[in-house]
Amino acid sequence: MNRQEFIKQSSILFMASQIHIPATSETNWAGNLTYSAKKIVYPTSIEELRKEVLAAKQPKALGSKHSFNTIANSTDTLISTSKLDKLLSIDRQKMWVWVESGIKYGTLGLLLDKEGFALHNLASLPHISVAGACATATHGSGDKNGNLSSAVRGIEMMKADGTLERWEQGHPDFNGVVVNLGALGIVTKMALAIQPKFEVSQFVFENLSMNQLKDHFDEIYQEGYSVSMFTHWEKKLINQLWIKKRTDAKNIHPVNTYFGATAASTHLHPIKINSPVNCTDQMGISGPWYERLPHFKMGFTPSNGAELQAEYFVPRKYAYQAIMAVEAIHSIFVPYLFVTEIRSMAADELWLSPAYQQDTIAIHFTWKPDTKNVMAVLPKIEAALEPYEVKPHWGKLFTLSPQKLHARYPKFKDFQALAKRLDPQGHWRNEFLNRNL
Ligand SMILES: Cc1cc2nc3c(=O)[nH]c(=O)nc-3n(C[C@H](O)[C@H](O)[C@H](O)COP(=O)(O)OP(=O)(O)OC[C@H]3O[C@@H](n4cnc5c(N)ncnc54)[C@H](O)[C@@H]3O)c2cc1C
Repeated sequence: MNRQEFIKQSSILFMASQIHIPATSETNWAGNLTYSAKKIVYPTSIEELRKEVLAAKQPKALGSKHSFNTIANSTDTLISTSKLDKLLSIDRQKMWVWVESGIKYGTLGLLLDKEGFALHNLASLPHISVAGACATATHGSGDKNGNLSSAVRGIEMMKADGTLERWEQGHPDFNGVVVNLGALGIVTKMALAIQPKFEVSQFVFENLSMNQLKDHFDEIYQEGYSVSMFTHWEKKLINQLWIKKRTDAKNIHPVNTYFGATAASTHLHPIKINSPVNCTDQMGISGPWYERLPHFKMGFTPSNGAELQAEYFVPRKYAYQAIMAVEAIHSIFVPYLFVTEIRSMAADELWLSPAYQQDTIAIHFTWKPDTKNVMAVLPKIEAALEPYEVKPHWGKLFTLSPQKLHARYPKFKDFQALAKRLDPQGHWRNEFLNRNL
């Protein structure tokens, strides 16, 4: 099934299952969700935004629509930030960049690099909005890299009454407002930490035995600035190991073999049937941080296109056991899988970040566009990872109960209290938040 057919079929299925008939035919990026909103508005200024916030009964901020679940859905008004997308200022003293919330990382990367600066990390794709990505704790990889929201230093939000409130790092609520699930208000501006720009070379190795992970997991993940492993779970092989090294690192020299894996002889797509033309350059060719840290290029379709995604986080200390627990049940889900990616993240202090106060491993699944079978296998993967304190990605598909979610986040109650304080009338609530908060 191609992307267009998938979007059409999913939209028909979704509409048939909804009591509320959507007035727009707007879908999320994947096409597995047709938003239930009566209208979508595109404010171009704070004044226009305020007008829409005050006029709507139950609005919801919409970023670049890349989430796979209903976290960004609304049955009333979706307020898109796609036209609030400017770089506002660079504070060279503090090393912060202030941006409007709808700017995409790809756009910001280019602008920052021209000024001589970089962000610490990026996700697999540059197409996502800064506020939407941080709201769900979107991450890249790297043992010393926190997720993207860990770069936030300041945040300004419009509340339900149209007033603006601003927090900076150090404020007692700051660590609660950054990963906000869209539950607190509409983020208007954000300050992100910047550093001098740097270059990255990407090296790909094929066919690493999973047996090597038992004793060398740490070594492998410390080999680069950002490391990803891709597997189809067949024959206990990591099919591709992507190592992104800063060109100012000491160990930049290329090698032909790595723990028995062989250096790729050509550029590769993680889903091998797809063209690597969509992917950022590999083969050790150095390039700017914003064109190497993501796996996919800005002007091209990321990942597969017609697909679903789920992702699970476990504390770093369980990495090998958790991977083996998934490996043990791979035959039940492999028919529906394009590829799995395994990444690492440094601990942070953000209340609803899956890496809150613990180094973390992410086990991601890019699924074929087969909602019924994918939703049927997710509980089995969640059960296999249950002994390892599994948490799901806030923006992807999952079936974990709200009770389990609450228990996994030590600051969940504080977040609930914060949401109640900032949004006492439940202005920003939707079905996803009502269920999970
Ligand atoms: C192909 C693909 C690859 C991906 N790769 C990665 C990856 O490498 N790592 C990873 O962690 N995730 C990844 N994701 C998931 C994605 O990063 C998250 O779903 C992210 O939240 C999407 O951002 P968005 O701008 O599209 O936000 P949306 O999906 O539009 O919204 C997400 C949430 O943010 C809220 N929101 C958006 N803007 C604002 C605002 N201004 N103020 C308040 N709330 C706001 C929305 O209300 C909603 O709750 C990927 C998704 C796709 C489709």
